[in-house]
Amino acid sequence: MDLHTHSNYSDGRLPPADLVEEALFRGLSAIALTDHDTLDGNEEAVLAGRERGLEVIPGIEMSCEMDGQEVHLLGYFMDADARLRKRLEEMRLARETRMQAMLDRLEEMGIVFTMKDIPQEAGKSFGRPHLAQAMVSRGIVRSVSEAFARYLGDSGPVYVAKERFTVADAIEHIHDAGGLAVVAHPGVAGVFPHLPELERAGIDGVEAYYPKHSPTTASEIAQFCQRHDLVVTGGSDFHALGEGPSLGVPPVEMSILDSLKARRNSAPPRP
Ligand code: AMP
Ligand code: ZN
Ligand code: FE
Ligand code: FE
Repeated sequence: MDLHTHSNYSDGRLPPADLVEEALFRGLSAIALTDHDTLDGNEEAVLAGRERGLEVIPGIEMSCEMDGQEVHLLGYFMDADARLRKRLEEMRLARETRMQAMLDRLEEMGIVFTMKDIPQEAGKSFGRPHLAQAMVSRGIVRSVSEAFARYLGDSGPVYVAKERFTVADAIEHIHDAGGLAVVAHPGVAGVFPHLPELERAGIDGVEAYYPKHSPTTASEIAQFCQRHDLVVTGGSDFHALGEGPSLGVPPVEMSILDSLKARRNSAPPRP
């Protein structure tokens, strides 16, 4: 299975139903859809999974911050209430405003795009990869990674920070939605040292098996999880065919989903 995937509801390229087809093609038994700061693709994904015989866990990847450090939290089994949906809609609109701010920065550099040039459907969530794709299409850069390296990266000239949840808020939102909160890819970008603090904040698990994690990092995370009674998870962070990580790599055993379900069922009742 693969517990970390993106669809075109955020910055992935495949519609949820195509993601389900790709998962079946790859021989997977289950996936979690974990789009950035949106739950909107889950309904389509779960329905397609039901029709085609693939278990789909409705999820999310929430952009959070802890002591100025960006931390991504995965939420699994999300059945969100109105309060979270409203907050996510606010964040979606803030991402549109932020996209416009990045276009303004580019214009100051003599590169003019309008919102219409950005390849994202109305009502869906905008991210930097969409702008990167537009820059590739126009021939300003040769690849998405070149766009990040020269313009859009966290210290690049076009970067504008996005609105983020505090870790405490995100965990509360996930738990209120009946879900489990899992720290995404702590082995990249300085999150690993924050694991003890994240554990105290109430996370349920940590993503250990991840394309950019070395075997050493994965096993350090697994040991941390064992010490603190957390679920060890994994996923690919798949976004698009032929670009970035492949769906279902690294392979993740179904027993991990059983552990997540057991933890979910043993959780204290939530209001
Ligand atoms: P955003 O949420 O708009 O800040 O965009 C962050 C997303 O951009 C990440 O989730 C990745 O999918 C993608 N990304 C970040 N850095 C890079 C990079 N160097 N090359 C390609 N994609 C990247
Ligand atoms: Zn992404
Ligand atoms: Fe992430
Ligand atoms: Fe991701």
